Amino acid sequence: MKLHIGDTILVTAGKDKGRQGQIGKVIKAKNLVLVPEVNVYKKTRRGYGDQKGGVFEISRPLPVANVALICPSCKKPTRVGYRVLESGQKERICRKCKRQINKKETKQ
Ligand SMILES: [Zn+2]
Repeated sequence: MKLHIGDTILVTAGKDKGRQGQIGKVIKAKNLVLVPEVNVYKKTRRGYGDQKGGVFEISRPLPVANVALICPSCKKPTRVGYRVLESGQKERICRKCKRQINKKETKQ
């Protein structure tokens, strides 16, 4: 998977085309990413017993093909490239400015 949680993306297709957001969840097996507040659908639910009914808004995951990573260095939508370090580790780079795309700290 080329995209990670915390990456800023641009939606390139679908009803929210042109919107930006941060990836909240990556569903690797299905090649989907969930971006809070993007691709929101209204869902009507009936109340059952103590549960109240009403209209709920849920974000649906987007196919990876419909989003582009926004490079944190040049702020442009870009494709992700890879560079292999001397240590054998791969790092993600921006294909436009060739700078490294840092993985956000996820120490929580
Ligand atoms: Zn860049």
